[in-house]
Amino acid sequence: MSDLQALYQEVIIDHSRNPRNFCECATANHQANGYNPLCGDKLKLFLNIKDAIIENVCFKGEGCAISTASASLMTEALKGKTIKEAEKLFEGFHHMLTEDDNVEDLGKLKILAGVRTFPMRVKCATLAWHTMKAALRNKRSATTE
Ligand code: ZN
Repeated sequence: MSDLQALYQEVIIDHSRNPRNFCECATANHQANGYNPLCGDKLKLFLNIKDAIIENVCFKGEGCAISTASASLMTEALKGKTIKEAEKLFEGFHHMLTEDDNVEDLGKLKILAGVRTFPMRVKCATLAWHTMKAALRNKRSATTE
């Protein structure tokens, strides 16, 4: 393992053990539940959107280390973004995990690029993002299939 991979792994472990923005937000105006039947990951996502800007985002759930770390990193990445920017991040993140990591502007989310080599875990990493899309569209739930 390279130093960089080791560092990335450390960040993933940190986010899975101490997820950021891990709470239920009573004032959220968009929310959705996500479920990944392959692994059993479940999460609830809460978004506070005002004037097309994501002012606050948090989540609560139970899942494997990858799904929790990915949701935690996603909440950090989405705060302050417009809906358009959030959708662009979704596309980029999805591309990175299913095609190649030739994607710009992903910032810290690139840490999860290694998941691509474990096809069974890709749905763990994308669950929070699919749930975010469902919440933006006012759908109550998302299931990765
Ligand atoms: Zn999982």
